[in-house]
Amino acid sequence: METKQIQILNPHKVKDEELAEAAEILKKGGLVAFPTETVYGLGANGLDEEAAKKIYAAKGRPSDNPLIVHISAPEELESLAAEIPDAAKSLMELYWPGPLTMVFKKKEIVPCGTTGGLDTVAVRMPSDPIARALIRLAGVPVAAPSANRSGRPSPTTAGHVWQDMAGRIEMIIDGGPVGIGVESTIVDVTGPVPVILRPGAVTMEMIKDALGQVEIDPAIVGPVKEGVRPKAPGMKYRHYAPKARMTLVEGEMEQVVRTINRLAREALKGGERVGIICTDETRSCYPAGMIRSIGIRAREETVAHNLYAVLREFDDLEADVIFSESFPGDQIGQAIMNRLTKAAGYHIIKA
Ligand code: AMP
Ligand code: MG
Repeated sequence: METKQIQILNPHKVKDEELAEAAEILKKGGLVAFPTETVYGLGANGLDEEAAKKIYAAKGRPSDNPLIVHISAPEELESLAAEIPDAAKSLMELYWPGPLTMVFKKKEIVPCGTTGGLDTVAVRMPSDPIARALIRLAGVPVAAPSANRSGRPSPTTAGHVWQDMAGRIEMIIDGGPVGIGVESTIVDVTGPVPVILRPGAVTMEMIKDALGQVEIDPAIVGPVKEGVRPKAPGMKYRHYAPKARMTLVEGEMEQVVRTINRLAREALKGGERVGIICTDETRSCYPAGMIRSIGIRAREETVAHNLYAVLREFDDLEADVIFSESFPGDQIGQAIMNRLTKAAGYHIIKA
């Protein structure tokens, strides 16, 4: 299949004509990758089981890993969710459009092919103007997981999508680099207490402030135990992952730098290609290895923004091992550490 790429020069003033062909592809059951404020999504008609199947095939994604359905206006939720609890209404009011996905009991109309066989559906209303216009023009809810091949870091530029999806999908819409850089927060609102299934830019603290109470799924903090089925099935897969073996180093900054330098020296001596993930603040402290700053430690949103691009770069550089600094696990840091620990296969050491 030939993949067409179109570029939207002014995303904030995107015109309907520019997205007409993409919307047509979605209506006909095809696949279009598009920017959202979190990461690039791979979209298909969420009500069309055959179209959803194509997403799984293009990504090489296990079919029990459900897709998030994207809408362009809050009213559209009513056609998908069997029940909209008060907690969800409060969160919608505050954080839609935006990087927040909520899991609802699904209506019959949502096919099991979209929900990985679950009787719930995950729904998000993105704030990105291209995403919103595309969904509105397609006239259907758009199922869209991240537009990477399964097992690769999520794409934050159209170039990343091209690397993974060229020849496998009908179209890629290039709207420039995304803003946030990590996937949406997922909150399950089907039970008495809302549960965070995946941390993102809408933080646990923000949800707690809004609702008074929130729980966090154990799959976020540690590896999923044998035989346990996490509520967000995607959390059991080692995705977000670079090809290299990665180690996260925790502790007091000076010690962390010293430990990473020692590990890097040993690996270099062993003839390995060594990647180091540091921050702008510590960049000058590392004398050897392929050193990449992931952002400004004092501004963690910059770390979220660059995270996947840095992991992808180490794939391109064919790093054998990566040693990474770690971050405090609160606010957006919780999402950053969730992605980094998964990328490291939970391999964390204390400095
Ligand atoms: P991605 O679209 O690649 O960001 O992955 C979607 C994530 O949403 C995966 O981790 C899924 O497991 C999760 N998800 C989607 N639908 C549901 C659902 N109905 N219940 C729980 N988690 C879901
Ligand atoms: Mg994904």
